[in-house]
Amino acid sequence: MALSSARSSRWWLEEEGTVHGALFAIADYIRESQAWQTDADNFHEQMWAGGRAYTDITDSSMSYEPSHVARNVSRQAVSTYVAKVFKHRPMPEFLANKGNWRDQRRARKLTQLIEGEFDRDKIFKKWARLVGRDSGITGRGILKVDLESTDSKVPHAERVRCKSMFVDTADAELGDPRNLYHIRTVDVGVAVERFAPDDEELADKIRASGKNDASELVEQHQLTVATVDRVRVVESWHLCDNEQAHREGKDHDCSGRHCIVVRGADLVDEVWEFDRFPVAILNYEEPLEGIFGTGICELLEGFQYEQNLMSEKVSNGHYSLGGGFILNPTGSDLVAEDFTNDTNWKEIKHAPGLAPQWVTVEPVAQGTYQYMRDLGPDALAEVGLSQMSVESKKPAGITSGVALNTMDDVETERFGMQGYAYQQWCIDVAELYVMWIRHIAKKHGDYSAKVPLRGGVLELSWKDVSVDHYIVRIHSSALMRLSPAARRQAVDDLFAKGQMDGTTYLRYLGGGEADVEAEIDVITANRLLTDEKLEAMLDAEDPSDPEAYIPPSPYTTDFAWSKARAQNRLAKAESSGCPEGNLQLVRDWILDIDALEQRASGQTGPQGVGAPIATALAPGLPGTAPGLPAPGPMGPEAPPVPPGGPLPVAA
Ligand SMILES: [Zn+2]
Repeated sequence: MALSSARSSRWWLEEEGTVHGALFAIADYIRESQAWQTDADNFHEQMWAGGRAYTDITDSSMSYEPSHVARNVSRQAVSTYVAKVFKHRPMPEFLANKGNWRDQRRARKLTQLIEGEFDRDKIFKKWARLVGRDSGITGRGILKVDLESTDSKVPHAERVRCKSMFVDTADAELGDPRNLYHIRTVDVGVAVERFAPDDEELADKIRASGKNDASELVEQHQLTVATVDRVRVVESWHLCDNEQAHREGKDHDCSGRHCIVVRGADLVDEVWEFDRFPVAILNYEEPLEGIFGTGICELLEGFQYEQNLMSEKVSNGHYSLGGGFILNPTGSDLVAEDFTNDTNWKEIKHAPGLAPQWVTVEPVAQGTYQYMRDLGPDALAEVGLSQMSVESKKPAGITSGVALNTMDDVETERFGMQGYAYQQWCIDVAELYVMWIRHIAKKHGDYSAKVPLRGGVLELSWKDVSVDHYIVRIHSSALMRLSPAARRQAVDDLFAKGQMDGTTYLRYLGGGEADVEAEIDVITANRLLTDEKLEAMLDAEDPSDPEAYIPPSPYTTDFAWSKARAQNRLAKAESSGCPEGNLQLVRDWILDIDALEQRASGQTGPQGVGAPIATALAPGLPGTAPGLPAPGPMGPEAPPVPPGGPLPVAA
């Protein structure tokens, strides 16, 4: 369909209230001109899903057609790619200027806030794998992070069906389109509730548009007529022309526009104040042109075709010759039908007077079988996979762990680009959350969220975490990003070489494994407590406040470890520009540890410490007493309390 006029192709210049006309013309034009893309997507979905994809609701017959694909290498490859790449959880980390202590502290909290958003919206638990799978099948996976309605106070993530998001090919040629279109159907009731809750006139227009769409939908969605009531919705974004003003945060007359329309009305028409679209796109392979990538199914089209062809040939061979044939002399009394009916024996007439002869042959040559069998591994190798990883077993002839590791490494390297793309996608998603949170805070005063942390919930609000300048990168704790098995191997090695102590070993081993986590919590609680105290003192808003100093506990502090820890933290904080007052708190803390340590060693005399501790504790700390170890030689974990009273505090 050609557009009616040049003007109507620029919907973002249309008068308010009339955008829907232009936008529907464009939507139809784009869907039609890019029908090849939809065809390709349908084909690749069928390659992956086999028979099930034939039930796509655009097919009015809606009958289930079983798969005819004997060896679905596309599906094997996509599943392995998803399993290998998306088991990782590359959490983005916000970093601020090294010399600016306040910003660094805020950036750390911002990281926690975004981690909380990822958790709330199930980015790793659900969406990453699905978007990853989409990228394997159709080349690109798309996650939309958006507000459900203009007044929403919480960002919301949803997976976009790739087939419903479009760019104009000419606009997107160099990879930076200025317009994006999301064309889909929405339940009429939901659309009314979302866009016209108090506007009966608009609600009627939505309902009417649903009826207008019905005839088209009847053709496309045979069943939807009877059971659902849906309306076609086109959502579009136009990015502002003044890119520099957005980069520098300058006030300007913004030409960005965001519209949501149905056939008969505009539902949303607002300034799009951002310099990007609200979607994070993950490509399997980056495209030569445009913004949508190439997927595994497309890469394996040729192999899958050849595989199907060979399966058919072999199958035909078995049908024709799978039984064998009878050489039946002309004029013999042997009735061939007795043998050939309902079997795949064949009759061949031969010279009269000879004996009948049964002959069995190979239905196809050995080389043909071998060629067919090689196609699978060849196809997997094409996308950098071995049969081993696809079937989760060792290949014949490879027995040593080292060789297996090597094969795994090769695959990891082959998926290196995809792993990197996945990390960038996570950063992209994190930036979308920051974009919306900043917007919500500006509009509604603030944004706050509860962030689950080890053993509790932390409430963080935007005004406590916003940083003017930051960069985002993937969290550097590489060990924690490994799979459980690989992590165990790595920490085992470090532990065996004496490069990691027992407690740290447990801490790393436990990441992500719930059953041992509780045990590790108990063992590492002291150390976490020390870390938290140091952190709190370095972060204290007002270090001169007497409450800012948190003294080490004589009961739970592991002196030697804590002192070394504090010294390291002190050095790092000093080089990062931490204010003097906060540094002093940690220095005082180190001195207090020294004092505690000296007392501990001074008190382990022959008179014993059991009685004085009990006496000292009984009145003041009833709750703590049962937790104390039995009297005797004291370890650093539980030094005696000086009976003389509270510890000197240097602050
Ligand atoms: Zn602008």
